[in-house]
Amino acid sequence: MNVIYSKNYNINLGLLRYLHPFDGAKFQTIYDGLKGNERINFIEPSKPASMEMIDAFLSSIMRHRIRNKNGIFQALEVPRIPFITFSFLDRKILSPMRWGVAGTVLAAQNALKNSGIYWNISGGYHHAMQQNMEGFCIYNDVGICHQQLLQDGLLSPDDKILIIDTDAHHGNGNAYTFMENKKVTILDVYNAGIYPTSGYTRNRVDIAVPLPPGTDGKTYLQRYNEALEKLDNDYRLAFVVAGSDTLMSDKLGGLCLTIDEVAEREKLTLQALHKRAIPGVILGGGGYSKESAKSVIRAITACAESGKG
Ligand SMILES: [Zn+2]
Repeated sequence: MNVIYSKNYNINLGLLRYLHPFDGAKFQTIYDGLKGNERINFIEPSKPASMEMIDAFLSSIMRHRIRNKNGIFQALEVPRIPFITFSFLDRKILSPMRWGVAGTVLAAQNALKNSGIYWNISGGYHHAMQQNMEGFCIYNDVGICHQQLLQDGLLSPDDKILIIDTDAHHGNGNAYTFMENKKVTILDVYNAGIYPTSGYTRNRVDIAVPLPPGTDGKTYLQRYNEALEKLDNDYRLAFVVAGSDTLMSDKLGGLCLTIDEVAEREKLTLQALHKRAIPGVILGGGGYSKESAKSVIRAITACAESGKG
């Protein structure tokens, strides 16, 4: 299994970490939990995604908003704190996320080149879009990556792309980004009772699995498996937003999967891609409970052992 990781992914806010339930050091915890496993091959991005690459994706208004601390505070869902400067936020939070975007691009380049599966433990910022940033997502890494792959000639506009989103939240940013692009198929399994509730973006999803709050793992996996059966065979590349906020212990996701059920879900995803010979990029997505890192370690280990990496 190829895993993309950089120590620069980690967000260290000191005491300010209590402002948001996101565990900023979870990437380090995941790395520590996997590094002794000889089935896992780590690959590291050499630099963060450049602002030029990101700006090329954004609307002109967003190019300004993304450099304004009040807009960033809002997107991160924390109160505006007067003494915190933009440069502090940029260094402590935005830069780690740009490393995450670079990880997604690196994973996709490798997946296409080697027809394989590459797992970026960061990225999956599926609430960000060209015109907005929200839900702890600043940069839409899937959209930015897709644009970069087109520019580099690694993808053509005619190539069919698949986005599988198993994060507990509906991927409104990806749906909005690819609203008019019919070459992109979106499969989204989400808790229908929580943010984001926009009918406009929910209607963009090609294979939708809206679940009621409190759905258990058995039902989730059954519904997900049925949805995977509806996929075509001819996608050039798949992006998978594999959020671990579907865990029962997650306060925000509102679903009831165990750690083993999340691992089972990732195995189903990889089997579906393998069966159709689709190169895949797996992305971290959300995951706000203390069990999130443990769950990702379990899932990657299980997938590596199943030989589907
Ligand atoms: Zn989520």
